[in-house]
Amino acid sequence: MKTEEVIDNLKQRFPGEPEYYQAVQEVLESIEDTYNEHPEFEDCNLIERLCIPDRIVSFRVTWTDDQGKVRTNMGYRVQHNNAIGPYKGGLRFHSSVKPGILKFLAFEQTFKNSLTTLPMGGAKGGSDFSPRGKSNAEVMRFCQAFMTELWRHIGPDTDVPAGDIGVGGREVGYMYGMYKKLARENTGTLTGKGIDFGGSLIRPEATGYGNVYFLQEMLKTRNIDIKGKVVAVSGSGNVAQYTAEKLLQLGAKVVTMSDSDGYIYDPDGIDRAKLDYIMELKNLYRGRIREYAEEYGVKYVPGGRPWSEKCDIAMPCATQNELDGEDAQTLLSNGCIAVSEGGNMPSTPEAVAAFLKARILYAPGKASNAGGVSVSGLEMTQNAEKLCWTAEEVDARLHQIMENIHSQCVKFGRQPDGTVNYVRGANVAGFMKVARAMMAQGIL
Ligand code: NDP
Repeated sequence: MKTEEVIDNLKQRFPGEPEYYQAVQEVLESIEDTYNEHPEFEDCNLIERLCIPDRIVSFRVTWTDDQGKVRTNMGYRVQHNNAIGPYKGGLRFHSSVKPGILKFLAFEQTFKNSLTTLPMGGAKGGSDFSPRGKSNAEVMRFCQAFMTELWRHIGPDTDVPAGDIGVGGREVGYMYGMYKKLARENTGTLTGKGIDFGGSLIRPEATGYGNVYFLQEMLKTRNIDIKGKVVAVSGSGNVAQYTAEKLLQLGAKVVTMSDSDGYIYDPDGIDRAKLDYIMELKNLYRGRIREYAEEYGVKYVPGGRPWSEKCDIAMPCATQNELDGEDAQTLLSNGCIAVSEGGNMPSTPEAVAAFLKARILYAPGKASNAGGVSVSGLEMTQNAEKLCWTAEEVDARLHQIMENIHSQCVKFGRQPDGTVNYVRGANVAGFMKVARAMMAQGIL
C-alpha cells in the first residue's frame, strides 16, 4: 500500500471532498509501515474497504418555519465500519455539513471508537440545517422531520447516533422522542439523552473532562503539573465548556474562549462564576461570546482565533482546521508545551507537522476527545442493563478509559528518542484492532 496512490484513487472516485482526503492521508501515513508488514491485508484489499464507508444514506428533510414557509434541508448518515460493533457517532447540524465532511468524521470515528476498548463501529451524520437563530419550535419541527427518515436506518444494535456541533441535549431529546414514536420501542437508540429518560450522568461533561484527563496523562510523562498552567481554549460549546470546567477544577488558568464570530481574552482567567455566565449565555440564551467581553470588560477580537495569545497549553475545541501552520508557529514561539484536541481534526496538516517536529506533547482528537463516545458507550450499556450508574462510577470509568487510550498511544507511538508520537500511536492502535476484526470476519 502506498498512501499517495490510495489518496489519488479516492480523489478520482470521490471528487471535491478535501476534508475526507486529509483525514485519510493522516491515518494512512502513520499506518503505512505497519500495514505493509501484513501482506494478508493487501491480499484482500483491506485498505479500500477501510477507507470507503459501508454506506451513505441521504435524504431530504422538509419542515415548516415560524412564518409558515416550507423549507428543505439535506440529511445524511454515513455508516462507515461496523467490524467491532454497531455503528456509532454523532449528528452535526451546521450549514457547512456535506457528505465529504461527514465522511471524514465517520472515518475518524472508526479509529477513535476502536481506541476506547468498547465494542463500537464508526459512523457520523447530520444536516446542513443550522439551529443558530431558529426558535425552539423550529428546532423541534426540524428534529422531528429529520428523524422521520433517519429512524429506519438506526437501532440499538445497528446504529446509535449522538450529538456533535449544533446537536446538544435539546436536539437529542426532540429526535429521541420522534424515534420512539416511530420505532415503537424504548431501547435508548441515541446517546446524550436527558438524564430523566435514559441518559447517563457525566455524558455532557465527558468529552471535555476526557480531554483534560488525557492532557494530564501526557503531562505526567514529562513530570509537569497542570496546576497554574495558562490554557487557551477555543469554542464555547459543549466540549469547550467542560474542558474549561475540568481545567478550573485542577487549578489551571483558562484565558480564552471563542465562537464562530470571534474570541475573548481574559488575562485574569475565566473563574467558576464567569464560566457559569458562559454556560448560561450559550446553553440557555444561545448568545454570542462577545457578550462576555461586554460583561467583564475584557478584550474581544472579532473574526479572530485565540492562538496568538500567550499560553502554556492550547486546547482547540471548536471545529476542523481552526488552527493552521502559522498559528502553530505562533503557539510554539510563545512557549506552548502541549496541545490536546477537543475537536475533530482542528489542526491542519501543517500545524500537526510543526507540533511533531517541535516534539511538544500533541494529542490528536481521535485520542484526546474519545471520552465523549466512551461515555456514550457506557450509556448504551446502562440502557441495555436498564440501570443508572452514579456520576462517580461513570467518571471513574471515563478516567480509566482515557488512561488506557493514553497507554495504547505510548505503546504504538514511542520513538527512538523516547518521546511519544501520539498521532502514530493512536492511528496504529486504532487501525490494528479494526483490521484484525475485519480479517476475522471475511471479505465483505
Ligand atoms: P457545539 O455546537 O456545542 O459547539 C461548537 C463550538 O464551536 C461553538 O462555540 C461554535 O460557535 C464553534 N464553531 C462551530 N463551527 C465553527 C466554525 N466554523 N468556526 C469557528 N467556530 C466554530 O459543539 P461541540 O462542542 O459538541 O463540538 C466541538 C468539536 O468537538 C467538534 O469538532 C466536534 O466534532 C468535536 N467533538 C464533540 C463531541 C461531543 O461529545 N459533543 C465528541 C467528540 C468530538 P457558534 O456558537 O458560533 O457556532
